[in-house]
Amino acid sequence: MSNQFSGKSVVITGSTSGIGLGIARAFAGEGANVMLNGFGDAKEIESIRAGLASEHNVKVVYSAADMSKPAEIAAMIDDALTAFGGIDILVNNAGIQFVAPVDEFPPEKWESILSINLSAVFYATRAALPAMKAKNWGRIINIASAHGLVASPNKSAYVAAKHGVVGFSKSVALELAETGITVNSICPGFVLTPLVEKQIVDLAAQKNLPRETVIRDVLLAPQPSKQFVTIEEVATLTLFLASDAARPITGSAYSIDGGWTAH
Ligand code: NAD
Repeated sequence: MSNQFSGKSVVITGSTSGIGLGIARAFAGEGANVMLNGFGDAKEIESIRAGLASEHNVKVVYSAADMSKPAEIAAMIDDALTAFGGIDILVNNAGIQFVAPVDEFPPEKWESILSINLSAVFYATRAALPAMKAKNWGRIINIASAHGLVASPNKSAYVAAKHGVVGFSKSVALELAETGITVNSICPGFVLTPLVEKQIVDLAAQKNLPRETVIRDVLLAPQPSKQFVTIEEVATLTLFLASDAARPITGSAYSIDGGWTAH
């Protein structure tokens, strides 16, 4: 085990599950202090927090901030500054999905997706930037999606929010281009996490198809590799973009999607 992020502090939103938790594990494994965030069973979250801290001998703290609430996002960043004395890396990862044709799309689902998947990226970025500017070093990595670059039907809110994340990242990257702070998006194809598991179960019921058929012929239809991207693969790309080697990479949207957006 190396310690390339020893002494660095990382805030990862939506890191009690799926991709965010994988990214948290990867940073802790490289010696970074980590702030976890997200929903879930309090005992399970505490066991993840304590396990990561003792396994890797790093500081791991947890914030229950709701990413749909700007005041809670600001408080989360304040808590990270208090716990670590700085924030070097911010990974905006929290996200939700809801699938329906646009004329049946519940307005409250539209509002939640836009606030958690897009506006939270703005609120966390603006709160974390002063600490990064003070050190003239920082990494902001936004977990967008292949749906930040191309669309699928029935995902209007998600696609709008993820395109928004890619555009927001480019704009802020330009503002910060002469500093030591970079801003990039990662655009994964399908990764087998609870967010995608729900889509598999719903589609299998809707179409009355076996799970394996739904995965191969429906879900992975746009993903030419016909394989899920793994959580660890997304985490490895995140570590690279956070590393000193990625210094000149800013304003980019990195596809990790088995060829999806090459279509
Ligand atoms: P997941 O459902 O496994 O995890 C989502 C995390 O966000 C959880 O920790 C959850 O508690 C947290 N969260 C949800 N609402 C929140 C809120 N209001 N406040 C704070 N935390 C909240 O999902 P995942 O698949 O790991 O997705 C993570 C990110 O990756 C999302 O932004 C998603 O859009 C993106 N993504 C996922 C895939 C995929 O195929 N799984 C592909 C591309 C992009």
